[in-house]
Amino acid sequence: MRGNNHKQPLVIANWKMKLTASAALDLARKIKKASAKYRGAEVVVCPSFTELGAVADILDGSGAALGAQDCFWEEQGAFTGEVSPKQLAAYGVATVIVGHSERREHLRESGDMIHKKIRVLLSLGMRPVLCVGESFDERAEGQKEVSLAAQVHQALDGLWLTRAHELVVAYEPVWVIGSGQDIDPNEIEHTHQVIRQSLCDIFTPSVVDEHIKIIYGGSVDPENVGRYMAKPSVAGVLVGTASLDATRFSAVVAGALKS
Ligand code: PEP
Repeated sequence: MRGNNHKQPLVIANWKMKLTASAALDLARKIKKASAKYRGAEVVVCPSFTELGAVADILDGSGAALGAQDCFWEEQGAFTGEVSPKQLAAYGVATVIVGHSERREHLRESGDMIHKKIRVLLSLGMRPVLCVGESFDERAEGQKEVSLAAQVHQALDGLWLTRAHELVVAYEPVWVIGSGQDIDPNEIEHTHQVIRQSLCDIFTPSVVDEHIKIIYGGSVDPENVGRYMAKPSVAGVLVGTASLDATRFSAVVAGALKS
């Protein structure tokens, strides 16, 4: 099921709300310096909105692109505090994380909200990174597959992917995020196939293979990335904690390139 996916592993850095402005710019400078070695991978860095402009300037001409951690579902209007995908695009952002489990949990972001965000991103030719993942309890109760299928269907039912569209689905088990815990790569492979089946129920298998990458996120680090990327369905990784250190992040990219 690797299709075209592995010609260029996708590595996305999610800095969350973890860095001061000066730490973010320092990290961006270090990533720019290291990025000559990223050749062969597609690397996307997602800072906070407040640092987008400065990080865009630093990464300009580097081997890493700029992404965003979220967006609103309208292009413009009376939506105090929100940031539209068009505003992000003005900074050169093409890739936007949507439906991260932290937003689902802390901001009660619903399937409908996530669906609307993906719809507007696709309509603007931008690339959503839809995050899906089961909780510890769902997994323990044997509800993992049901939960993931529901998340995929809520986000994507009724959408079309045409020639220009690209979509990424990030499988992020909620119980692994930020835990430092490794997961059996066979479990990732199995779960990616479950996700792929849901995607094939919505689109067609050929559309899925041509337009959708499935990546893994959850305590990815330089030590485990090779084992995860060796699995045929894993087209890349979404990296939180390990993306906050330029040396460790660059080692993750190197590991993804090797496998
Ligand atoms: C994330 O929050 O998307 C993530 C994968 O974080 P971490 O790598 O820290 O588990």
